[in-house]
This record gives sequence, C-alpha cells and structure tokens, in this order.
Amino acid sequence: MIRITDILEKIWEYNPEGDTDVIDRAYIYSAQVHDGQMRLSGEPYLSHPLEVADILADMRLDADSIAAALLHDVIEDTPATKEDIENMFGPSVAHIVSGVTKLSALPSTTKISQQAESLRKMILAMADDIRVVLIKLADRLHNMRTLNYHRSPKKQAGIAQETLDIYAPIAARLGIFWIKHELEEIAFYYTMRDEYERIHAMVNRAKDEKENYIQEVNEKLLKKMKEMDLTCDIKGRYKQHYSIYQKMMSQSLEFNEVYDIVAFRIILDSVPQCYAAMGAIHSLWKPIYYKIKDYIGNPKPNMYQSIHTTVVGPRGERVEIQIRTSDMDQIAESGIAAHWSYKEGTKVDESTGELFAWIRKLVENQENYNDPDEFLENVRIDLYPDEIYVFTPQGEIKILPKQATPVDFAYLIHTEVGAQCTGAKVNGKLVPLTQLLKTGDKVSIITTKDHNPSPDWLNFVKTVKAKTKIRAWINAQEKERSYSLGREMCEKTFRKKNQSFNALVKSGEMMRVAEIFGFKSVDDLIANVGFGKLTPLQVLSKAKPELEKQEEKKESIISKIVGRRKKKSTNGIIVEGLNDILVRFSKCCNPLPGDSIIGYITQGQGVTIHRKNCLNVMKMSDERQIEVQWSDNFTESYPASIKVRTDDRFGLLADIASVISKYKSNILIAKTETKETGVGLFYFTILVGSTDQLRKIMTDIRKVKKVMDVKRIVKND
Ligand code: MN
Repeated sequence: MIRITDILEKIWEYNPEGDTDVIDRAYIYSAQVHDGQMRLSGEPYLSHPLEVADILADMRLDADSIAAALLHDVIEDTPATKEDIENMFGPSVAHIVSGVTKLSALPSTTKISQQAESLRKMILAMADDIRVVLIKLADRLHNMRTLNYHRSPKKQAGIAQETLDIYAPIAARLGIFWIKHELEEIAFYYTMRDEYERIHAMVNRAKDEKENYIQEVNEKLLKKMKEMDLTCDIKGRYKQHYSIYQKMMSQSLEFNEVYDIVAFRIILDSVPQCYAAMGAIHSLWKPIYYKIKDYIGNPKPNMYQSIHTTVVGPRGERVEIQIRTSDMDQIAESGIAAHWSYKEGTKVDESTGELFAWIRKLVENQENYNDPDEFLENVRIDLYPDEIYVFTPQGEIKILPKQATPVDFAYLIHTEVGAQCTGAKVNGKLVPLTQLLKTGDKVSIITTKDHNPSPDWLNFVKTVKAKTKIRAWINAQEKERSYSLGREMCEKTFRKKNQSFNALVKSGEMMRVAEIFGFKSVDDLIANVGFGKLTPLQVLSKAKPELEKQEEKKESIISKIVGRRKKKSTNGIIVEGLNDILVRFSKCCNPLPGDSIIGYITQGQGVTIHRKNCLNVMKMSDERQIEVQWSDNFTESYPASIKVRTDDRFGLLADIASVISKYKSNILIAKTETKETGVGLFYFTILVGSTDQLRKIMTDIRKVKKVMDVKRIVKND
C-alpha cells in the first residue's frame, strides 16, 4: 500500500515551497473516518484515497486537490458532511469534495451508451471546478485497476462499459491521454475479453517477428541522424490493444493489415533540429505526403506539438514517425498534459482548447497564485454556458437551455405532458412551475387530465417548443371562442333583418359567402366575424344582396358624422404600453370621457373601447382585454345615447333640443315613441365631450316641464 510520505515527496519534487499541511490533516482525517472499512481487495479502504491522491500527484496538482482526493469518498461513505469538511479544510477543498460526491450520485442507467454524450457533458457541466473531474477520473482509474476484485463478471463488464462510454472520452477531451489509454485498455479486457485475448496474442506473436524489424528501423534512423549531426533519442513503441482493435473495426482490417502497430518517436533538442530530422527521414525513406502533419508549426489547441510523418520503410512497409523536442515530449508525457494521441480523430473545439490552456497554466503557475480567490477564479469552468442537463424520472438525460423551467421540460417530454402540467417535483420536492432548472436535477411532472396550458406560461418558458405549443393552444382557443362569438353576432344581426342564420347555413348560402370572402368553410367565416375581421352585416349583404342598398345609405350617414374621428388613431385614449394604435369606440355602449373603460383587442382592427360595465365586455375573452385610459387632453365629441320619459306633450321635443344645443351638443339621432299609457319616450343620440357635460345636459333636461325621467342608455336602436 502506498504511503502518504511517498505522495508528499512527489509533491515536494514539483512544488518544493508548497504548503502541504492541509494534505497531512486530510490524510489523518480520512484515515480516521474510513477506519474499519475495507476494499474488495481486502486492503484497508484508505488505500483507495491514497492511490487517487497519488495519481493526482503524478498530474502535479495543487495541495487542495490532493487533500480533496484523500477526502473524496468521506461525504458519501462516512458520516462526515460538507460542513465538516469546510470547517476543517476550507471552502475550496469542501467545494471539490462535494462536487465529486454529486457526480457519484448520478444515476447510471442501462441506456447509458445511447446518451453517453449527454452524460459526459453533464458531468463536465456539473463539475464547475476542473479539479472535480480530475479526481473523478483518478478515482475511476484506480477502481479500474482493481476491477479484478469484483466477483461478478456482469458488474465488471458494466463498470468497464461505463468507463469506455463516459470516462475515457472525458479524459480525452481534457487531453489526459495516458488516463484515457489506461482506462480503455482495462475496459477492453472486461468488455470484450475474447477480442482482447486475440489481439494480445497477435501482438505478442508480432513482437517476436518484429523484433528485428524494429531494430533495423532504429539503427537506420540513428545512423541517418548521426550523419546529419542531430543528437537524438529514438523510441519504438507498440500501439495499444484497444487502438488496434478500433482500427481493425473502423477500417475492416485484418490484424496483419494494421501496418502501424509500432510507432517511432524521435526526440531532439530544438525546433530547427526537428525540421532537419524530418528532411533527413524523407531523404532516407519516401514520405506519404498526405500523412505529414506539422503540429509544431500548428500546435493543437491543447498545446500538443510534434511532427508526424508516415514513410515507406526499409521493408516496403509504412512506418509512422513522430518528431518533437524534449520540451514538447515533456508536455505530452508528464503532468496533466499527458499524451495527446495523434490518432485522436476528433477535432478539439474552442472551449476544450481554452480549458487545456488553463490546465497548463494551473500546472505551471500554481505557485504564482498568492490570492486564493484569484486561484479559484482560474479553476472554475463553464464548458457549456448555454445548456443544462436534467434527468427524467427514468434516468434519461434531457438537454434544455439555461433558465429553462419545469414547463419547458414537460413540453420536451411530450406536448400532452406540457399541456396538462399542473405541478413539478425537482429532486423529490414540489417546486413552482417558474423554478429555474439546474444541471443534474431530477425532474418529474405532475399532470392533471383535461388541464389546459396557461397563457402566463409564455412569460417564463425558454424553449421554442413550449412557446410554440402554448401559442398554438391559445390560438385554437381563440378561434373556438371567436366562432361562438361570431355565430352569436350573426344570429342576432340576421334576426334583426328578419333573416334566419341557420336557414342560410342549411341552404348553402353561407358556404357561398365563405367562398366569396376566401374562406374554406362556414366555420372559418364565422370565426372571422368573431375575430372582428368581418361584420355580420358584410356577411349578410353577400348572402342577401337585396338588403345591401338600404344598409349602405344608413351607414354612409353615420360615417359622415362620426367617420372623421374614426380614422384618427388616438382619440383621447391611452392604451397601456402601446403607442399609436388604432382605436375605435364601440357602438354598443358609446363610452364617454369620464366613463371607466376597457379596450378589446380585435384582429387587425386595433383596439375597440367599451365601457367597463358593457354587457358585451363580459362575453369577451379575458386574454384580449387591455387596460386603457382617457388622456387628459381629449378634444373630441363622442356619441352618447339617452332616453327621456315624459308625459306626452306637443312641442316637448323642441324644448329638449334647445337644452341640448345650449350645451353646444349636436343631436345625431332623435326618435320618439308614444306609449298607449300616455307616456312619451324620446331617444336621443347626441355628441358630447365627457360624462360631465352629459350629466349637466341630463340635469337640465330633467328641469323641462313634464319630463319624468332621463336615463343614459347603452345603445340607441
Ligand atoms: Mn472513490
């Protein structure tokens, strides 16, 4: 079992000035709380955190990382809490340990390979500190090294598969290729034992055969380098079993067709020497030009530098040769910046490049950080700033945009789940639907049958799908409502003109009208009446053209009087949040300045102003109502209707009219009606500036002799 002193010595070697007190204390504490626990190997449990810490020391990590490595299993496996760790070892160590603990709590599902990419991203996204990932990788590496102690082959294969799917690619992504390769090699053995054994045997056989060949290439290279006065080291090495296997699979090759199971590496002192060496090799053996890669001139984003060339070797075989300086070799071999394998086919994206640059900085400059906050600032990572990763109750991972809510999640699962969503649980707790989800959350949605989406949801949902579906639902609802409203309007108007709406539908007349207006069905036509795009009269005049002329006359008279102000957009009305919107006054309730009013948003025809107590307003959908106010400077006149009850008296009309004109109000319409009981009824529609003016007029009319009663009425017809 490795001892803490071995680890400390390793650290002092690369960081002689470093304060290792926190490591000592972490070691003592870890030994205490893990006391009595055993590994499957029969060793004390403590051997595991020690090995993990040792791997991190090999990667030359800082003291907090090593301390966290020693403590990485204490929250999960012992009674210790995050607070305990924080009190004893500080916030940085506690943050790393709790990060590792969170990753351990991720469910591993059977469907893991299918969503491996999501899970990898999730792990990287959850570990907001790169050191969490490094400890997790070291942890997995030691567990793989000791996988043979697991009794169940099924379990071994499961863990090995997860390693291939999740951890090896993460190691590759971070540029830690020695971990990637070791993980893959062990996992290959446990997942595909037969293939592993077959390749193992073939490599061993080839080794015997190739012994001479390797010797020959080595000697010829060395001789050439000497000729050119290039001092160098030459190494020949075998490819990994797993790499050979992958190459055979991906290119359908037989083992003996994999020409490059041996690769050569030449290490020199300077960059000019590297290029000189390349020239020398190409003069010795014919290069395959498309196989030449100059990562010295164009370093990989992870700082990897080397020249790779493939040439036709002494026996007519392809030989792959890497040429680099010892510094470059150091970067690739030691510390975190281990092997960046030339055969890694995937392109490195920008964030990995940046991350890698950061890792190097961490390794090289850790002793230069005086301020712990500054250091911490530099170990924070956010590789996927726009996405979060959450779990379904079945352990499936779903990707959502940042700031997504349970409603977004519900719509992502299924439109129906979204529509019927009435509640949500995150990590087992009920939360409001507006709650912002975080990476790693386990989300479940509570649905209620027949529940409908709420337009309010549009205020907080983030995904396009949720927005579109909610809007579609609202539109469908509006159409339905518009249809019943339109139908009601048509029936009423038609009845007044002694026409039967139903009969016109039945006779097919309405279908004809629908076609005239370009609608596919009578329902569409009616809905558009409800939307306010058509009036019932327009519909009727097409259905019964003979009624039209009569109507035209009447409408033209009215529009002569009130049409002028119809065209003006802001007739003394302020519409909340909207400038310059087309405003019309409803004819049903004739609102006046001073009345409390409400706006109704019509389709394509702006806002109609109603009195708040107008009966029609009650029938209208809430969603389309909008707050409106009278502005202070209204100069317009507005129609108002009043009903005057009198004892019938000749000449009374003239008396009332003179009162009205005294207030400089015009009479638009005047009608009289005489009841048999001797009661006379006068209906006036007059133009007034405000409710104030109307009230004064009404008060004065009441003073006219024989007038019994004056009332403002909603509608004059
Ligand atoms: Mn562990």
